[in-house]
Amino acid sequence: MDNNNIEIKHHGAVRGVTGSCHELKVHEAGILIDCGLFQGSDYRTDLSIEFEIAHIRALVVTHVHIDHVGRIPYLLIAGFTGPIYCSEPSALLLPAMLEDALKIGFTRNQQLIDRVLAQLKGQIRALPYGQWQTVANTEIKVRLQRAGHILGSAYVECEALGQRIVFSGDLGAPHSPLLMAPKPPRRCDVLVLESTYGDQDHESRFDRRLRLKAVIEHALADGGTLLIPAFSLGRTQDLLYEIESLIAEFGQHCAAPNLAWRQLEIVVDSPLAANFTALYRKLKPFWNKEAQARLEEGRHPLAFEQLTVVDSHQDHLHAVQYLARSRKPFVVLAGSGMCTGGRVINYLKA
Ligand SMILES: [Zn+2]
Repeated sequence: MDNNNIEIKHHGAVRGVTGSCHELKVHEAGILIDCGLFQGSDYRTDLSIEFEIAHIRALVVTHVHIDHVGRIPYLLIAGFTGPIYCSEPSALLLPAMLEDALKIGFTRNQQLIDRVLAQLKGQIRALPYGQWQTVANTEIKVRLQRAGHILGSAYVECEALGQRIVFSGDLGAPHSPLLMAPKPPRRCDVLVLESTYGDQDHESRFDRRLRLKAVIEHALADGGTLLIPAFSLGRTQDLLYEIESLIAEFGQHCAAPNLAWRQLEIVVDSPLAANFTALYRKLKPFWNKEAQARLEEGRHPLAFEQLTVVDSHQDHLHAVQYLARSRKPFVVLAGSGMCTGGRVINYLKA
């Protein structure tokens, strides 16, 4: 590599698994790839941008999970006014993710939130997959390719001074529900690979789906409620898609004593998950062939008749009461990745 003139720095994701933020600098101008939030053991209270950004001409976003985009508001506040390149689905999902992040971690002042979001939307540039984009005032070109992780996810190919540098973002398995398969890069001189579970073999989609069926049936065997805490973006929609397919295939089978799969009610209870599920439905043109075929058959993978989506706090309280009273088996997908916070707690108490 042209070592003297190309520099790669990692402003995040070095010690832990969160807070991804890489810089590619060529001569005196650079771009950032992702600008994520520190979480868990990497958590920091001061999130302001501590590195030089005067020479940063653009930000490229691989996907809109918070550990890849959560610090973007701080980047804007630090004075970054350049373009924010991301895929077309990400362009729709990003403001929704950051609005929630701002409300939780930044301010309750809606005017301030609206101002940050307006600035953000003004800087977002949706880039079709597979299309080179020259970054103005740099010697860098970028191209997004499907990563198979969540809707809109991409890895980033960069070209500078005849070198190809690839930033992986988070990569998914080849047969993710809803997503078109990732395409491996044809050429790569330097690879910046982010790998959370890279050392494990992913079980096959087929096995996972049947295991989900077995787990649900086992959990409901005593007539109780199954509570699945799931991340709002990605995991929730994956699970809904698989559950719909189980209902379609095993509708007459018993999910619980005296309850067929097609009678099983599924509740999604999280405003953010509700919002992302609605956005996922808007993004149908980006779904894979299998999902498109189900739509053509008249099925609704993310809006089936057994599904109830709970958004407001009022509806949430009603849902908890209804569940407690009805004594019927349910599956509830609730917000938050763990059972330590959010609406999950109210269900556990009910
Ligand atoms: Zn991710």
